[in-house]
Amino acid sequence: MSGRSVRSAATEQTQHERPLRFAVIGAGMAGILTGIRLREAGYDDFTIYEKAERLGGTWRENTYPGIACDVPSHLYSYSFAPNPDWSHRFSPGSEIQAYFERVARERGVVERIRFGDEVTRLELRDGGWQLETKSGRRDRADVVIAATGVLHHPNIPEIPGLEDFEGALFHSARWDHGVAIDSRRVGIIGTGSSAVQIVSAIADRVAKLVLFQRTAQWIMPQENPAYSEAERAEFRRRPELVNQLHQDMATLFAGFASGLVDANSPQMKAIEDACLANLENGVRDPVLREKLRPTYKAACKRLVMSPDFYQAIQKPCAEVVTEGIERVETGGVRTRDGRLHELDVLVLATGFRVDRFLRPIQVIGRDGVSLDTLWAQRPSAYLSISIPGIPNLFMLNGPNGPVGNFSLIEVAELQLGYILQLVEPLRRGACREISPSEEATQRFEALRTEAARNTIWGSGCRSWYLDDRGIPASWPWTFDRFREEMSKPKLEAYEQVG
Ligand SMILES: Cc1cc2nc3c(=O)[nH]c(=O)nc-3n(C[C@H](O)[C@H](O)[C@H](O)COP(=O)(O)OP(=O)(O)OC[C@H]3O[C@@H](n4cnc5c(N)ncnc54)[C@H](O)[C@@H]3O)c2cc1C
Repeated sequence: MSGRSVRSAATEQTQHERPLRFAVIGAGMAGILTGIRLREAGYDDFTIYEKAERLGGTWRENTYPGIACDVPSHLYSYSFAPNPDWSHRFSPGSEIQAYFERVARERGVVERIRFGDEVTRLELRDGGWQLETKSGRRDRADVVIAATGVLHHPNIPEIPGLEDFEGALFHSARWDHGVAIDSRRVGIIGTGSSAVQIVSAIADRVAKLVLFQRTAQWIMPQENPAYSEAERAEFRRRPELVNQLHQDMATLFAGFASGLVDANSPQMKAIEDACLANLENGVRDPVLREKLRPTYKAACKRLVMSPDFYQAIQKPCAEVVTEGIERVETGGVRTRDGRLHELDVLVLATGFRVDRFLRPIQVIGRDGVSLDTLWAQRPSAYLSISIPGIPNLFMLNGPNGPVGNFSLIEVAELQLGYILQLVEPLRRGACREISPSEEATQRFEALRTEAARNTIWGSGCRSWYLDDRGIPASWPWTFDRFREEMSKPKLEAYEQVG
């Protein structure tokens, strides 16, 4: 801190408005949103860097059979871009990808994206960020917004012999559409939402389906009805109906999210009852039923929604294997009981490395401190958005943000509204750098981890919601509180420098 002039929010500030240049990293849902909002706010000097050749992030990368959102489509839409044409309550991934492409095009964001250029390094110099990309491009920005995603880096399990497999092997987020699966023997490792969607989609097509299950999942029986042409025509005629639907669902899901933060809440009990009835009534064979029965509370892991998983997994071609995997061999997967499960295709539905965030970008902040050092133990951030010592860099869907079965679009919209208020002092010329204070961040983190222990995610299961200490890495309070917190920054928690 020495040698820098730190201003508190209360200090009288000399103001010289200055134009701000922004660099946005990533052109998925959150990066597109940022482009739209920056333009609306009158910030026209920005570039969106996207390492792929196409926008869409999650929805560009995940094209596996059966992919759909598990939050209703009318909620999983930007609040400012309702879509009367969603085909289903939970629409397929290709429709979601087309939605983001259309919105980005219509709102003039596509031409602001620099495709095929990965940001590799950010260094703070003289109150701004020097940015470098893989192609060797250099840029300078006053503010960086990292929209680099959270479910983005595939998690490849360390199973001995994986590289020996002679069939086709790929992660669910890298589905190889050149590989035929019809009438072939397909193995799936993992039982999360992606695995469940894949099982339902391919059980009728394959000769044999082996689901390698480490942990059974609670399955919420969610029907996925199609909207009729008449309904969609009505939505087109009366946009207020779509807005109302969005609003109603946001309220419903906020209520659900509020239940998550108390493991003993009535909402969690109701969900568990529904999942339990689904299991009891949906699985005939008592042996299979016991294999599929979880030993933890419903919603402790991300709740899996499916109208037909149990039907699919009971097809004669399907088998649930609960023996641990010993190794992968040329011809298939050998389990610890010595059995070889012969396969032509092996799908790793093993999720993502959820502790990466904007890494592997090398970030060098104030006084030469690197993000890798700051996050050596685990990632953390003040209100999920910003990091002490790393001024003018803000994350969307960053560490320890709200999780659960609700729309991350709403989360990103709220976060971006907060960030745009936070850059106001920079625009006004009140300071050149803004970052949360170490003290505010530590206080927040202590309260957060304390509260997180009481949430449903901390109620005793193994999941990707947990950090290296076993503490839920999430917003542990109600969604209404998150909304409230995001409505206006408390500037006393921030250092304004220069
Ligand atoms: C199978 C699946 C289903 C899901 N279903 C739902 C759902 O129903 N509801 C829900 O709310 N959420 C869902 N999610 C979460 C989903 O990830 C988010 O809703 C949302 O799409 C995230 O958007 P994003 O822009 O934050 O990140 P991403 O979509 O991951 O986009 C990040 C972008 O940044 C780019 N990028 C990353 N690093 C760099 C770099 N260094 N330089 C340049 N570009 C970079 C990437 O290429 C990518 O395009 C799902 C996720 C998965 C995997």
